[in-house]
Amino acid sequence: MKVIGLIGGMSWESSVEYYRVMNEEVKRRLGGLHSARIHMVSVDFATIRSHMLVDDWQGAGEKLAEAARTLEQSGADVIVIGTNTMHMVAPQVAEAVSIPVLHIADATADAVKKTGAENVGLLGTIFTMERDFYRGRLAENGITSIVPPKADRELVDRVIFDELCKGSFLDASRQEYIRIINDLAEKGAQSVILGCTEIGLLVRPEDTAVPVLDTCRIHAIKAVDMVLEVV
Ligand code: GLU
Repeated sequence: MKVIGLIGGMSWESSVEYYRVMNEEVKRRLGGLHSARIHMVSVDFATIRSHMLVDDWQGAGEKLAEAARTLEQSGADVIVIGTNTMHMVAPQVAEAVSIPVLHIADATADAVKKTGAENVGLLGTIFTMERDFYRGRLAENGITSIVPPKADRELVDRVIFDELCKGSFLDASRQEYIRIINDLAEKGAQSVILGCTEIGLLVRPEDTAVPVLDTCRIHAIKAVDMVLEVV
């Protein structure tokens, strides 16, 4: 088994899920006492967020590139950036190392294709919903995405940073997310990408009529595919 190099802490609420899903998946496939080989560098999310808020992606990218170099030097075989938003700097991270970076939007696009959907809804941070790095990457993979209207994008983003990344999972916010997911389905989304790695902790598949795709889970399982050389 090869080694997963996980850049975590963005937020650590979802890093816990990455760790759990990767280990559960290895156990499911190999049985016995098998568990995932994972090296992890966990950043201080407040520092990363402060770069984000002033649109300093170069500065944020340098921190993640440094984390990736540390992981490569420690023997990691693949880099997993445990957040959708920070894939804004995925090219900078990829340039810093000679091992592959498993892009979360590619893993997600593969999962969407398996469902047969071509038009999906996308929830995530303002950056993920509004900038091109994510929707453009989905489009390159043949997936058309729609996002909620501005007021709902702001609500989704506020809940992510003020609640989910601080470990707060409120029923009122869950109901708002379900409303927004249903609206996207009414506008033609065949499934909805939970394009922020904490949303799967708030909204469960059984909460919605339309299928939802949890990017944290999808990304973690794809990393296991890679280290077990299934792909
Ligand atoms: N974990 C979230 C994501 O998947 C948001 C935190 C971040 O901005 O990195 O985008």
